[in-house]
Amino acid sequence: MKAYTIEEIKSIVRPSLGNEVPLELFRILRIIGMRNLLGESSGAALYMMGKYVGSILDVSNEEEIKDVIKSLRIGIPQIEKKDESHYIVKLYECITCAGFPYTGEMFCDMESGILAGLFEKITGKKAKSTQTKSWSVGYNYCEFDIILY
Ligand SMILES: [Zn+2]
Repeated sequence: MKAYTIEEIKSIVRPSLGNEVPLELFRILRIIGMRNLLGESSGAALYMMGKYVGSILDVSNEEEIKDVIKSLRIGIPQIEKKDESHYIVKLYECITCAGFPYTGEMFCDMESGILAGLFEKITGKKAKSTQTKSWSVGYNYCEFDIILY
C-alpha cells in the first residue's frame, strides 16, 4: 500500500464545493465513525495516527508548532514550558471537543498524538502526551500534559 504525502493530498479540484468541509463532517467521521469501527481501541489508534501525522508536519520550534496547529485549524494552542522535559498545552477551540456537552470522558486522542509527534520532531526526544482537560469533562478548553524522555 502506498504511503501518500501531504503534497499529494493537497491537490484538490472541487470548483463548486471548494477545499473546506463542515466541522460537523469531521466530527461524524472522527467521533462517531472511528469509535464505532474501533471501539475501545479507538483512543490508542487515534493517538498513534496523530503521532505519525505530527511527525510528518514541517516544524522546527515551538512557534511553528503553534502556527501549524492553528493553520490546520486543529485549535488555538497555548504552550507553557514547565521545564526541559515537561510542557502543558492548552488547546482552545479544539477541532474535536469544543462545545461538546459533558460526557465524563475525554477523547481528544488524535490531538494528543499530534502534539506528541510535533514535540518529538522539534526536540529529537520521545514524547508522551496525556489529555487532562476537555469540554467533555466540564472545561471550555482542552489541555495536554507532555512529557519528554
Ligand atoms: Zn479537545
